[in-house]
Amino acid sequence: MKIAFIAHDRKKEEMVNFVIAYEHVFEGQELFSTGTTGSRIMENTDLKIHRFMSGPLGGDQQIGALVAQNEMDLIVFLRDPLMAQPHEPDINALLRLCDVQGIPLATNIATAEILVKALDRGDFAWRELVHKYKPTSDEV
Ligand code: PGA
Repeated sequence: MKIAFIAHDRKKEEMVNFVIAYEHVFEGQELFSTGTTGSRIMENTDLKIHRFMSGPLGGDQQIGALVAQNEMDLIVFLRDPLMAQPHEPDINALLRLCDVQGIPLATNIATAEILVKALDRGDFAWRELVHKYKPTSDEV
């Protein structure tokens, strides 16, 4: 499964603790992140993560490009609901694309826990079918 992690600055510690707690579930998955979030996770776990640019510099949009192609299977995006972000339009665009494609998206730790437990149980098998039967770019 392709999984992306994004955490705003005041949520990064929460993200690191979350990934440490479920490292056994994330092992063997294809992991992506925005720049700083990925660095922080890799400093604290043995996971290898493909890091895109930092969120404010376009990282959300890079992840959004994979979502638009229905490539991403799960996104954990710990947003800071109490602080305005300079890249609010990029954030909204990413959330919108998740809804366009029906991609599982957690924006708080409670939902993230439920989704990661579902992933561990094998509840994401339907995503394999999405990949198998995805239309080619000529067909969309
Ligand atoms: P970062 O980007 O992981 O590079 O901090 C996330 C964000 O702040 O949008």
